[in-house]
Amino acid sequence: MQDLISCTVSDQKTIAAIELTSRCNAYCDFCVSWNDKVEKSLDDVKSIISQLPDTIATVVFVGGEVLVWDGLFSALSYAKQRGYRTKIHTNGLLLPTISDEKLAFVDVVNLPLDAVSEEYQLRKRQPLELLRKNLGRLMQLNKGVSITTVVTRQNLHLLGGVHEFLSAYPIQSWKLFKFTPHGLGQENGHYLSVSDEEFEYATGGLRLPTGKVYRIKDFFGMKGSLFF
Ligand code: SF4
Repeated sequence: MQDLISCTVSDQKTIAAIELTSRCNAYCDFCVSWNDKVEKSLDDVKSIISQLPDTIATVVFVGGEVLVWDGLFSALSYAKQRGYRTKIHTNGLLLPTISDEKLAFVDVVNLPLDAVSEEYQLRKRQPLELLRKNLGRLMQLNKGVSITTVVTRQNLHLLGGVHEFLSAYPIQSWKLFKFTPHGLGQENGHYLSVSDEEFEYATGGLRLPTGKVYRIKDFFGMKGSLFF
C-alpha cells in the first residue's frame, strides 16, 4: 500500500532534483548539506536521468556547489539530449569562468541572495558585485534566473532591501526558505533560528513584478520535486 501511495504521488511530479555533490567552495553558517557526504558519478547521474518518470519535464542539478563537480556539463548535455528543461543551483562564484557555450546547456540558473548589506556575512566570499555581474550576463544570454534566500534572525530586517534589489531584474521565481537547523545550521541555530510567526511577518508582503514568490517553512518537507 505504501509503495502504491509513493508511486501515485511521484507520478504527479514534474521536477527531478539531483544532488551531484555536497562539496562546496563557500561556507555558509546555515548550510544544510555541508555534512551530507554526497558524491555521484556521471554514470550515476545519467542512469537517474535515463529512468525518470514520464511526468518529469525539468531536471535540476543541486549541491553543494554544482560548478565544482567535473561532469556537470556532460550531465546537462545528456539531459538536454533527452528533451528536459535544465536548471542549476549555484552560488555563482565560478560562474565567470564558465563559457557561454557551456551555459547553452542551461535554461535556468538559480543564485542565492540573503541581504544587500555589507553587515551581512553569513554567505562568505559572495560579494554583491559578483551577483550583479552574473545577473547582467545571464540576462544578456536570455537565461531564466531564480533566486533563493535563507531567512535567519540576522536578515529578517534586511528582506526589504533584497526585494528592492530583485525588483530591478526579470526574476522568474524567488524562494524564501525559513532557516533549518541542519548541517552547519545545527551548530548555529542559537543566533539564526526564527519562529514561524517571525518568518510569516517578514515575508508575507513580498511580491516581485515579474515572478512568483514562494515562502517555504519546511525545507525537508518540500513535496514538489522528486529528489535523488
Ligand atoms: S549553503 Fe550553498 S553555497 Fe553555502 S556552503 Fe552550503 S552549498 Fe555552499
